Amino acid sequence: MLQSLSKLYKKYRHTGTHQAMNLVGVAMLLLYPMVQGFTANYLLGAFVGILLITFVASAYYHRALSHRTWTPTKSMHYIFLTLGAAFWVLPAMYWVGLHRKHHRYYDTDQDPHGPKAGWKQNLLMVLVNNPEPSYLKRDLKHEPMRWQNTYYLRIALFTTLVMALINPVLYFVAVGYVYSSFIMINTYGHWRGVKDSHILAIFSGGELYHKTHHEDQRKSRLGVFDLGYYGLIKWMK
Ligand SMILES: [Zn+2]
Ligand SMILES: [Zn+2]
Repeated sequence: MLQSLSKLYKKYRHTGTHQAMNLVGVAMLLLYPMVQGFTANYLLGAFVGILLITFVASAYYHRALSHRTWTPTKSMHYIFLTLGAAFWVLPAMYWVGLHRKHHRYYDTDQDPHGPKAGWKQNLLMVLVNNPEPSYLKRDLKHEPMRWQNTYYLRIALFTTLVMALINPVLYFVAVGYVYSSFIMINTYGHWRGVKDSHILAIFSGGELYHKTHHEDQRKSRLGVFDLGYYGLIKWMK
């Protein structure tokens, strides 16, 4: 099982498709306003990005799957995992393994990302970091996550194709927003020691209450402006 998962992850890493899409998203997020200004599609993309980082990345990938602070229903698993694949958030097993390693080694040389890691590890995360399946336990048997592993690339490519035809600005801005948020959380959140920021927490679904989170991984409400908690987790507990 571990071996077959590693093979699957290697496939993603070597194709570079995941990383390429994330970087196209970041380029769209940063460069588009310089050329076209803040159009309605751009602002809508940023809003979708905030929803994704809040509910898919923070509330679900991070707090439900990685730390088990709340329990989603079966249909919620499939909805969030489909959205995670559709917007290139990463296969959840990959995300969870890497994140648990981060908690084990944060602010040391073995941290897979953050200020002590090099720029490559922060900007090209999936290309240079291993999936760390040794940090996954019963997750490996989790049926919805296994389902996402099988269909991740197909869902992601299909959504990219459809959205590239319908509304590429909205789509790639949303993809870029989520990826840029990860980079900001991983680097600024640990810059000169782990820290909290009310303002950045609003734009990161509560993730920038980073010091509070590292002090107690099982805490489900991280701060005053924790939209992931007030928008979803509170109602599921
Ligand atoms: Zn951290
Ligand atoms: Zn965490």
